[in-house]
Amino acid sequence: MTETVVHRVAIVGGGLVGTLAAIYFANRGWQVTVFELRKDPRHEDNALLSNRSINLALSVRGLNALKKLGLGLHEQVLDSVIPMKGRMLHVDRGRLVSQPYGVFGECINSIDRAQLLNLLLNTAEELANVKILFEHQLKYCDFDSGMLLLENHSNGSEVRQTVDLIVGADGAYSTVRNQLMRSVRMNFQQEYIPHAYCELNIPPVTDANGRSKFAMDPNHLHIWPRHSFMMIALPNTNKSFTCTLFMPFEEFGAIKTENDLMSFFQKHFPDSIPLMGEQNLKDEYFRNPKGPMVSIKCTPYNYKDRGIIIGDAAHCMVPFYGQGMNCGFEDVFLLNDFLDKYNVDDAKDINEFRESLNRALDAYTERRHTDAAAICDLAMRNYIEMRSDVVKPLYIIRKRIEGALHAIFPKYFIPLYTMVSFSNIRYSEAVYRWKRQGLWLTIAAATCGVCSITNLLYLVLRYSRITRFSRWFISDS
Ligand SMILES: Cc1cc2nc3c(=O)[nH]c(=O)nc-3n(C[C@H](O)[C@H](O)[C@H](O)COP(=O)(O)OP(=O)(O)OC[C@H]3O[C@@H](n4cnc5c(N)ncnc54)[C@H](O)[C@@H]3O)c2cc1C
Repeated sequence: MTETVVHRVAIVGGGLVGTLAAIYFANRGWQVTVFELRKDPRHEDNALLSNRSINLALSVRGLNALKKLGLGLHEQVLDSVIPMKGRMLHVDRGRLVSQPYGVFGECINSIDRAQLLNLLLNTAEELANVKILFEHQLKYCDFDSGMLLLENHSNGSEVRQTVDLIVGADGAYSTVRNQLMRSVRMNFQQEYIPHAYCELNIPPVTDANGRSKFAMDPNHLHIWPRHSFMMIALPNTNKSFTCTLFMPFEEFGAIKTENDLMSFFQKHFPDSIPLMGEQNLKDEYFRNPKGPMVSIKCTPYNYKDRGIIIGDAAHCMVPFYGQGMNCGFEDVFLLNDFLDKYNVDDAKDINEFRESLNRALDAYTERRHTDAAAICDLAMRNYIEMRSDVVKPLYIIRKRIEGALHAIFPKYFIPLYTMVSFSNIRYSEAVYRWKRQGLWLTIAAATCGVCSITNLLYLVLRYSRITRFSRWFISDS
């Protein structure tokens, strides 16, 4: 292809995933335009326009995608995170139990969503070949011609643009995905869970020297597991914690007055009341929205060489594995990898470019869908683990055994959480290995059980000698 040809990509959605994708495409030398529905979040007045969570858990997959860019983003991000080395369970009556995430001190990282997004937006905007247009809402797109039709909300005008590739990073309720459904035979599955979430806050406390400090241990993800619902808290760099209460909509609906709220908290989360402050709790609970949670799977993600969806637009998961953004960042890294693998930018002419791009996007979709579906299912399952299983004795014993086996055979036995959060092992491979390991554990436990019962039986019969059968059994065995 002649050297002067520059490929043009339109990225719909300037959230975390879309902005990272813009940087990756710009790094390849493509001309990038990002269309974002909202106002620029870096302006103070617009910062609270989003209802999304305030902080997020960033783990290895997300960090890896930032690191592979090689622009120093990874280091900058690590400077502004708070590492969390385990779960801190707030069991009945405020008793605390720490459960480390990994046997080798692995941590997930709490990061401010707005700070991360602003960093990505600043980095993208510094690149000469990236243009970010805020308040631009995609209304319609035609993949075959590469045409997008948008509304500019700042002046009500209509905007048209034609590009080589349309990337939909426009979140769970994606317009690009809706348009894609008209062009491909897309399988689509969506499930709302009966639970909602509401964010609350634990402010910093002041120590004897007047210095502000965290009200709880900041290096843990705090969980108040209450079986059918739960509350969690992640630390922020300003020494506060953002708590998220996850509960069925009906339970939220049953709390109508401040008295209802206080008796509910007295009953289920008494230790959190002095930390939040009674008035702060009341204000936040009644002011903050109760957000729904949805899980979305679909396939394929692309239409020929013309369009593709990534991030929540392609696979939206409930937030209980802390993987939504991490998985979206991994999408971007992998998509870039597939473009490299199929030599898309080395094509000699437009036909070769189109062919190799088509092959790259097809291969990406095929590989990614299996993994995205796997993590969507794991995220759903992890809700039960977090709100209920974590306090059950069998769960705790199993975790200890898994931890011990991982410490002894670090390559051959890896706990599921470690594979998902602290490795780049494919999500589907992690599930496969976890099931296989589970099978071996069950066989080992059953063998131990059978041996113990046989031994016990032998001893009983050996010393009681009550039946002919017992004598036969002993002499025969
Ligand atoms: C309570 C909660 C906690 C979470 N915690 C974690 C966590 O700890 N770790 C983790 O990894 N993930 C977490 N997630 C998931 C994470 O927030 C998402 O996976 C991530 O934000 C997805 O990024 P995205 O860019 O794909 O989508 P979004 O963040 O939704 O961004 C999409 C963007 O597209 C824009 N847009 C939408 N429609 C249009 C249109 N028609 N035209 C133009 N622009 C449009 C939107 O304005 C938005 O800015 C959590 C989610 C929730 C709800």
